Amino acid sequence: MVRVIMLSPPGAGKGTHGKWLTSQTGAAHISAGDILRAEVARGSDVGREVAAYTARGDLVPDDLIFRILAPAVVAAARDTGGYVLDGFPRTMPQALRAAEFGHDVGLASNAVIYLTAPEEELVSRLLDRAERDGRDDDSLAVIRHRLAVFAKETAPLVDYYRSRGILLELSTDRPEEEVQADLRDWLESRGLLPVTTNHVAPADAEPNHAAGVATTSTLPRDDQPANLA
Ligand code: ADP
Repeated sequence: MVRVIMLSPPGAGKGTHGKWLTSQTGAAHISAGDILRAEVARGSDVGREVAAYTARGDLVPDDLIFRILAPAVVAAARDTGGYVLDGFPRTMPQALRAAEFGHDVGLASNAVIYLTAPEEELVSRLLDRAERDGRDDDSLAVIRHRLAVFAKETAPLVDYYRSRGILLELSTDRPEEEVQADLRDWLESRGLLPVTTNHVAPADAEPNHAAGVATTSTLPRDDQPANLA
């Protein structure tokens, strides 16, 4: 079963593709941002504690996010056999602590999906989302700040996971079906999804979805996920 981390700058599609992965695998989708927004909306103690950070586009403290997410991950894995973690970990201390915790409880991550898109595309997607969903951290100034926070705090995780051989880098600057076809192929190749002989392609999809793929599966397949994280 997949125990996957979605790693991407704001707007690159970790929510969209994370939900799709859940639909394909049955592993629970756990969105750090959704959980925090729900706490803020409820006006809980945690919500009051994190509201100022999320509104500014700053990361909430590592301890707090870990306290909230660790039980959610354990529960998800118990209920569904895996997890799709959207938005966590996001700092090196979070990643190291998550790896230690995952190792201790036998729930180490076995895949990290790193989604990319050009910065101006990210900004324009987030501004569109602001019109649809009215998220208060989707203003231009806060979007720019969140992108800067990603570059400083989260981007270092890419090399960390790449060196563990569990990272797939995918451009999302192309149709969703192409991204998902590549995701499926990679997960199948790692034994994380049952191999389908007959992919259901949308009616208007190109027959050869692999054209123009910008993927980097960084280590050979025989790198053992069991040794990871
Ligand atoms: P996006 O990736 O679009 O910026 P998310 O919904 O994933 O949005 O996160 C929204 C906000 O929640 C972040 O800007 C941050 O304030 C907080 N947050 C989410 N995940 C984490 C995390 N792992 N660590 C610290 N803060 C987080």
